Amino acid sequence: MSKPDLITIPAGRGKAARIEAGRHVRVINTFGTQCVDTWAFIDGHMDEPLSMEHCREVHQRICFAVGDELVSNHYQPMFTIMADTSPGNQDSIVAACSEATYTRVGYPAGHGNCCDNLRAALAELDIASVFTPSPWNLFMRALVIDGLHIEYQRPTCQPGDYVELRVEADCIVAFSACPDDVWPTNGGDGTPVDAHFAIIGGAP
Ligand SMILES: [Zn+2]
Repeated sequence: MSKPDLITIPAGRGKAARIEAGRHVRVINTFGTQCVDTWAFIDGHMDEPLSMEHCREVHQRICFAVGDELVSNHYQPMFTIMADTSPGNQDSIVAACSEATYTRVGYPAGHGNCCDNLRAALAELDIASVFTPSPWNLFMRALVIDGLHIEYQRPTCQPGDYVELRVEADCIVAFSACPDDVWPTNGGDGTPVDAHFAIIGGAP
């Protein structure tokens, strides 16, 4: 089988794609340090996103594992986690960063952010975003350290670690290589880098 084409999620920017049910999408932490905010919407229903809140309820956990089915806000299956070569514990609880995330802590207006990246990535597909759902923050470590408190930690991925999902419903997926250069979540050196994804398998 030929190697799947890699689609770049540019450093600090977003990228979206339509993916049919039955295909797989592999999200790759190319350099090992990049957090990738991930969203999905049922194709044609931008008001039905992948819902972290509902996934947490279904699985009674805040992090998901290989074999878990991830659902929409109407409990429609959207992904099954097929593989995860990273240390796991992908964050499901921290909001996507917005311009206000950065101005709130003293940075000037205009900082790149994941909410704007989602809007821009969807606009490339001529899709107007309705709102920013809670993202699934792949490769981000925001661990609950004592049952109550969140602690941001540097990623512990190796270059090339990936999460592979089987797509269970025709959907729009969107990714943001988070532009965060304030907190240690992107490797701690203030440098967002490219990540990649690949769409694997023919449409059924
Ligand atoms: Zn972000």
